[in-house]
Amino acid sequence: MKDSTDRPLHPRTRAVHAGTRRSQYGELSEALFLTQGFAYPDSASAEARFESLGDDEFIYARYGNPTVAMFEGRMAALEGAEDAFATASGMAAVSGALLSMLSAGDRIVGARALFGSCLYVLEDVLPRFGVEVELVDGTDPAAWERAITPGTKAVFFESVSNPGLEVVDIKAVSALAHAVGATVVVDNVFATPVDSRALDLGADVVIYSTTKHVDGQGRCLGGVILGTREFVRKTAEPFLKHTGGAMSPFNAWVMLKGLEHMHLRVGAQAETALTLARDLEGHPAVARVLHPHLPSHPQHDVARRQMAIGGTVFCIEVRGGKDACFRVLDALRVWTISNNLGDAKSIVTHPATTTHQRLPEATKAALGITPGLVRLSAGLEDAGDLRADLMAALATA
Ligand SMILES: *Cc1c(COP(=O)(O)O)cnc(C)c1O
Repeated sequence: MKDSTDRPLHPRTRAVHAGTRRSQYGELSEALFLTQGFAYPDSASAEARFESLGDDEFIYARYGNPTVAMFEGRMAALEGAEDAFATASGMAAVSGALLSMLSAGDRIVGARALFGSCLYVLEDVLPRFGVEVELVDGTDPAAWERAITPGTKAVFFESVSNPGLEVVDIKAVSALAHAVGATVVVDNVFATPVDSRALDLGADVVIYSTTKHVDGQGRCLGGVILGTREFVRKTAEPFLKHTGGAMSPFNAWVMLKGLEHMHLRVGAQAETALTLARDLEGHPAVARVLHPHLPSHPQHDVARRQMAIGGTVFCIEVRGGKDACFRVLDALRVWTISNNLGDAKSIVTHPATTTHQRLPEATKAALGITPGLVRLSAGLEDAGDLRADLMAALATA
């Protein structure tokens, strides 16, 4: 998308305009085409459309829908990707991208620090279909180098892991993967789609759970797979349109409206997250603060290089373990105990007993999911109110 002088437009402008398709009514706001089916003027047109689908033609909402197509066009323009396929949830995007490209006998190397459902797909689902999976310490370049052997088909990691905030060096791992011809699939949720550099750094496929920062107001589930036209339309789309992971038109419409103010929201939330993380460093009840843009973060240099913003999520390790954490969480009045993130409402999560509860204790320990770990997602409230609430609650630890 370019302006009248042929200058490429800023991502903020693309987030408001890119991908818009207007009907004959010239509606200003994107139309919600809440329809699963499409009528054909005659039988020959139906036959022609099933034979080959034009860019502005649709046959069934599991395959495509004008509102969903607008969302896909906008996300692709924003990320700088050739194309995008919108999915029912972030996990439909992760599982769809991986299952559509992998076959029995293939090998995939992944980072060990993953969101619980991503870990389930790699540890439980893929091996059942004969895919060889090796999980490594994503922060250790030597471990990636050992594991990415010739014949490796794909590499998968969260650029910033949920919840431990381990940062994976996209550029370094992509170089190793490309040397053996492997496809690099990056779950970029925690980095957010704001000023994402994942494709420039070497990722081949980028995935978002749009449930998080794109909706940003905790209403709808959604996901998106971004990549080359070849991957999106020839690999991901056939799998997804026949297995059923399509995004609903209503959700796509909510996501489109969310994108219009995503940069403002996420920018403000990221600023609040970093401010609060700084304020909490050295607090007597807090053993450790984790935020990718704090100099104390173990991969701070990589995080500074590859993330324009540090994200909207940070973690603290409360002294005194689970009991102390529960006292702090239960004392909060402005923060909400929940498990969404990137939401307008500030949210606290105790991963060990909720999102990552099902993991064996040894895995939790290896991922840094200790009994004292609390994940905080900064919302849109006043940072002073959020800070005062946290300080008062921490006094009960
Ligand atoms: C939330 C999340 C997902 C899954 O997204 P859903 O929309 O809930 O399916 C995947 N990866 C990461 C890193 C997430 O935070």
